[in-house]
Amino acid sequence: MAEFTMELNDEQKEVRDWLHGFAADVIRPAAAEWDEREETPWPVIQEAAKVGIYSLDFYAQQYFDPTGLGIPMTMEELFWGDAGIALSIVGTGLAAVGVLANGTDEQIGTWIPQMYGDANDVKLGAFCSSEPDAGSDVRAMRTRAVYDEAKDEWVINGTKTWATNGGIANVHVVVAVVDPELGAKGHASFIIPPGTPGLSQGQKFKKHGIRASHTAEVILDNVRVPGSCLLGGKEKLDERLARARERVKQGGERVKNAAMATFEASRPAVGAMAVGTARAAYEVALDYAKTREQFGRPIIDNQGVAFQLADMRTRIDAARLLVWRASWMAVNGKPFTAAEGSMSKLFASETAKQVTAQAIQILGGNGYTREYPVERMHRDAAIYTIFEGTSEIQRLVISRTISGMQIR
Ligand SMILES: Cc1cc2nc3c(=O)[nH]c(=O)nc-3n(C[C@H](O)[C@H](O)[C@H](O)COP(=O)(O)OP(=O)(O)OC[C@H]3O[C@@H](n4cnc5c(N)ncnc54)[C@H](O)[C@@H]3O)c2cc1C
Repeated sequence: MAEFTMELNDEQKEVRDWLHGFAADVIRPAAAEWDEREETPWPVIQEAAKVGIYSLDFYAQQYFDPTGLGIPMTMEELFWGDAGIALSIVGTGLAAVGVLANGTDEQIGTWIPQMYGDANDVKLGAFCSSEPDAGSDVRAMRTRAVYDEAKDEWVINGTKTWATNGGIANVHVVVAVVDPELGAKGHASFIIPPGTPGLSQGQKFKKHGIRASHTAEVILDNVRVPGSCLLGGKEKLDERLARARERVKQGGERVKNAAMATFEASRPAVGAMAVGTARAAYEVALDYAKTREQFGRPIIDNQGVAFQLADMRTRIDAARLLVWRASWMAVNGKPFTAAEGSMSKLFASETAKQVTAQAIQILGGNGYTREYPVERMHRDAAIYTIFEGTSEIQRLVISRTISGMQIR
């Protein structure tokens, strides 16, 4: 187990500086254009693939970094560049983690590489869980997967929504109900291979922020996939369902949900994205406050401005520490006894919203225009308190974990 450290080692610092260079030279200059276009920034993703940032190898190296700091460091630097473009670059990772968490070695080896493609032929992955009536409440999921034993195929029907890269991905990972009696325990994840008939994109959403990232509905109309596309395999699913049915029979004792543990482990990554956006806005505001003069002196000469910057920096550093701690815990298998993963996501996402709003205030009228990046950063920051579990859901998870009670 790696010791918890608050300092990157030399190798990590090199990677961080390389990522920062890409974020500063390639991502940031393209940010305003792709925000206005509201389209997937393919040329930037291709450039990221060419230099090795959009690659399975790079992502895996960071994911398995025993210090736990590889992923937060990567997210912070890329999202410092721009949140919408960065999500287009790392969105595939969400689907890859879905396969990594539940798939067999063979499934991992087959499907994750197909999500990335290669530098000459870039592909994407999409993770589709949310539905129009099942956002925070995953038990309300309706997308149904039925096993056709004669053909060893699964038949999937339903509508997914809010899917990042939905409909434009090469490989979709879809969560569906296999046993409606079991609530969230009756769900399973499936790979939908490229070009499978019956999968189509529904509406593409026009969004408030992260507009370079593609978000759309995914329609599944009698989609048939081979048995081998059930993540983890049929035998494991049958065992898991049998165990869940047994518990229901014994009085519905609450079982520890494996999906919840996965979420706890992935939430610090979202926290790190938020830290990147917050830091970007803070830096713009600090620079501006030192150069903008009113009443014959820089506006930072006023405590009213300087203290805001002090608070912004303090919150950002505190958020990063929570993110790094949770990420280290996840990689080293430390139990989240106080929902530290949720804690880090909650604090960092609320920080990003607050800090980007303060940055607008410090830039005054300029902050409110699209001539300066902080209004975009503020629009982008709003997503962090919504996806991967809203702030209210994080508070629910934390309060339940620390109290052992079913807070509603
Ligand atoms: C840009 C974007 C990208 C996304 N990408 C993906 C993706 O790739 N894959 C995917 O599967 N999903 C994705 N999502 C979906 C996202 O995870 C959901 O939007 C989120 O889980 C919230 O669900 P909802 O929007 O249905 O809100 P709701 O669940 O309807 O919540 C509405 C409000 O009610 C509050 N609320 C709900 N229940 C409670 C409660 N018990 N206690 C207190 N407050 C509560 C919420 O906190 C929120 O404020 C994405 C969403 C967006 C906007």
